[in-house]
Amino acid sequence: MIKVPHSLSVQEVTKKLQVSPDDGLTTSEVKKRQSKYGENILTYKKAKSGWLILFEQFLNPIIYVLGTASILAFAFNEWLEGFAILTVILFTAIIGFFMEWQALRSFEALQKIAQTSAQVIRNGITKQLKTRFLVPGDIILLTSGDVIPADARLITCQSMAVKEAALTGESNQVEKNKAKLSIQTPMAERSNMVFKSAIVVRGSAKAVVTAIGDQTYIGQISNLVQDAQKERSPLEKKLNKLSIWLIWLTLCLAFLIVISGYINGKDITLMIKTGIALAVAAIPEGLPIVATIALARGMVKLSKKNVIIKKLEAVQTLGETNIVCTDKTGTLTQDKMSVHKLIMYGSVLDYKNLENKESIRHYSEEHLALNKIIEVAVLCNNIQSKKLDKNPDSIEMALIDFAYKIGYNVVEIRQKHPEIKEIPFESESKWMATLNLYSTGYQACVKGAFESIINHCNYILTKDGVKPFIDKAAWFNHVKELCSNGLRTLAFAFRYTDNKPKPNMLVQDLVFLGVIGFFDPPRKDVNQAIETYKNAGIKVVMITGDHPDTARKIAEEVGLINLKDNANTVIHGKLIMDIDNLSSEKEETILHAKVFARMTPKQKLDMVCFYQKHNAIVGMIGDGVNDTPALKKADIGIAMGIRGTEAAKEVADVILMDDRFTSTELAIRQGRTIYENIRHFVVYLLSCNFAEIISIAIAAIFSLPLPLLPLQILFLNLVTDVFPALALGMGMGKKDIMKQLPRDPKEPIITRKLWISTIIYGMSITLAVIGISFYAHIILELPYRTVNNMAFFTLLFAQLINVFNIPHRRFSFFQNEVTKNLWVWLALILSLLIVVTVYLIPLTRKVLLLVPLTMDQFITIGVFVLCSLLISQAIKRFGGTV
Ligand code: ATP
Repeated sequence: MIKVPHSLSVQEVTKKLQVSPDDGLTTSEVKKRQSKYGENILTYKKAKSGWLILFEQFLNPIIYVLGTASILAFAFNEWLEGFAILTVILFTAIIGFFMEWQALRSFEALQKIAQTSAQVIRNGITKQLKTRFLVPGDIILLTSGDVIPADARLITCQSMAVKEAALTGESNQVEKNKAKLSIQTPMAERSNMVFKSAIVVRGSAKAVVTAIGDQTYIGQISNLVQDAQKERSPLEKKLNKLSIWLIWLTLCLAFLIVISGYINGKDITLMIKTGIALAVAAIPEGLPIVATIALARGMVKLSKKNVIIKKLEAVQTLGETNIVCTDKTGTLTQDKMSVHKLIMYGSVLDYKNLENKESIRHYSEEHLALNKIIEVAVLCNNIQSKKLDKNPDSIEMALIDFAYKIGYNVVEIRQKHPEIKEIPFESESKWMATLNLYSTGYQACVKGAFESIINHCNYILTKDGVKPFIDKAAWFNHVKELCSNGLRTLAFAFRYTDNKPKPNMLVQDLVFLGVIGFFDPPRKDVNQAIETYKNAGIKVVMITGDHPDTARKIAEEVGLINLKDNANTVIHGKLIMDIDNLSSEKEETILHAKVFARMTPKQKLDMVCFYQKHNAIVGMIGDGVNDTPALKKADIGIAMGIRGTEAAKEVADVILMDDRFTSTELAIRQGRTIYENIRHFVVYLLSCNFAEIISIAIAAIFSLPLPLLPLQILFLNLVTDVFPALALGMGMGKKDIMKQLPRDPKEPIITRKLWISTIIYGMSITLAVIGISFYAHIILELPYRTVNNMAFFTLLFAQLINVFNIPHRRFSFFQNEVTKNLWVWLALILSLLIVVTVYLIPLTRKVLLLVPLTMDQFITIGVFVLCSLLISQAIKRFGGTV
């Protein structure tokens, strides 16, 4: 890496870095540099080490409580118990470690897919490469929309401007060039350098990498800031809070029971034992970690369907999204543009004429404007070649295809009239222009949205030559007609001058040529997705820079609006320029509108803010560099993987690798499912733990023998908590999950109704446990051990079967997402196998204080277990639970 490259000439820099600007580095040199300098990533973004993950498992309140319980057990000479609790601590930490480790690794693997890439020249060949593999000395090619992958010195540069807001705070774009600068030039003024993380907004350049990773400018600031420390997702935070709350509740309860027992003169050792049992019973061992696992699993699942989630919390927000803003071209349409209609003064060519070379020849001989339009279309066009262009603009590509198809020689036209200046297309201005050399002078070639160009045109090219342009109104109608048929339109104009025009005069006094209508077929699967969104209470809004009539027609075709929708459904961008100061009536209109046309990128951002002000959770689909502020601001920024610029992909939370609108539906569905699964998991776990706490508390209060001993509870929690609960976390989701309204973000994980359900399921299990204890102790007068064992097995089986209480009551008991979840059945089988094994092995039987039970006693257990299920189900079917 070299210092102060801005103060060196291009030759000096490339010489120092030992690289040829034309051929780039060789593979062997790249390998050497990779082992010397490492990868081009910032340290804080590097993966968490395995040791740290393991260590963090012990920094958990659950472990603190279990640790205290084991110390108490040792203090009271309960060695077996003490060691057992220690084993559980280790076991919990190790399971936690493996699960989190795997979840993080799969998350990181996804991050790698989502990583931005860059065009690099190596061994004389240009290729696309993940930016992490760049080394100092690499030759990179930059174009509009790219995120600068490393600090680099410019070698060549064509009207390049970048936004360096992330680095310097300067939000305006900065012009770049390759000229050598003085060594004292401050960083913000180093115009011959580009810095990692800045965004190319215009132009193109070739540059040589001078610094990578932490050595880059951004690397040095972010090392100071260290802002990107891995945050827990809001969901994980909520779950952590819930477990801490539960711990406190249990500790209070345990304290009360111990004190009251002590006052009543009970044996203090027994009371402490009960306290330990309670604490152990209430700890939801797997609660926080399941969130990470469920979220990470959801992410992996989505990645298989071409949806890359970049931030863990995005999964949660996806389930809350109630407005999805989308653009039109490529998302709702196929982005396969073709010339469909061409209108010039006095003639209209539709695709039938355009298919026919003979008729074209006839027209071109007769009509000067056709030749001129093709000439302007070819010259005022950035397509170099289909193969070389990374992200070809489909409308420009359609023009080149069209020119070839009707027999024009694109290369020859371009050679004949070389370009000497370009004013690039911008979504704000909606036109582009080039200045080309002509035999005896200069020709300005202009193409763009009709409304943006028409006012600059004072003449029109007719069959009889250039005439004053009088009848502009008729042209508005022509364009309207094209747009009403769903065509995207471009208007063309030119101007010939003998002398080189001043830049501000380039698009003055133009000669209008005509308009071309492009057909871009709507995507076939969008209708279905929009219908699903409607049912899911999610509003889809189209925000486009295109003409209102084109937007309306496409919106109709994809089912976003229907013919009956009133005129206010489509709103023109110019009507909402000042969106912050609208009358309440107008705000209402905007809230009801579904299509916004002729919108600028700034207005896209305004719309996101507007919806958020009205309490919506907004998903925003975008692709361009201009979309980045809106993508960032939206609750969920969704970038297109194929069409999207590197800048859009960098800021987005979600990347659709296949650019399909329908993939957003998959993502939202998965987001909802994961949240539901976590809820199921939590309700299941809490109801099981609740049953344990209450059973012990009741036994302590009524001076019954303890129905459960600490070791038995630990065993139960490891068997009944972990496997079925994890299986619930892997559920496929309800069939009708996309028929429900979006979740209210303010809603807690466990709503009031879910708390009631949790308590009812917990109480049903408790009734069975206490019931069998009474029955065996008082009526059957069985020995203490047998009573305890019967209570233990009742609790165990009732907890396992409790998994079938989880589905919503609108589903049948036999046909629902839990009975259809293969994981649940596997978990139940595994749990049962463990129980049988433990029961059969003498050592474990001794540790768990198990005694042989008779067949009759097992049947009694079965009856009580069934009763607990019946009670829960009866209450559920009468509407007492969810
Ligand atoms: P969509 O929602 O369909 O993706 P958009 O919001 O990206 O559209 P823009 O690409 O900004 O819209 O296009 C707005 C208008 O600018 C188009 O209707 C067209 O008339 C004009 N336009 C588009 N591309 C070009 C181009 N390459 N050169 C000149 N004018 C263009």
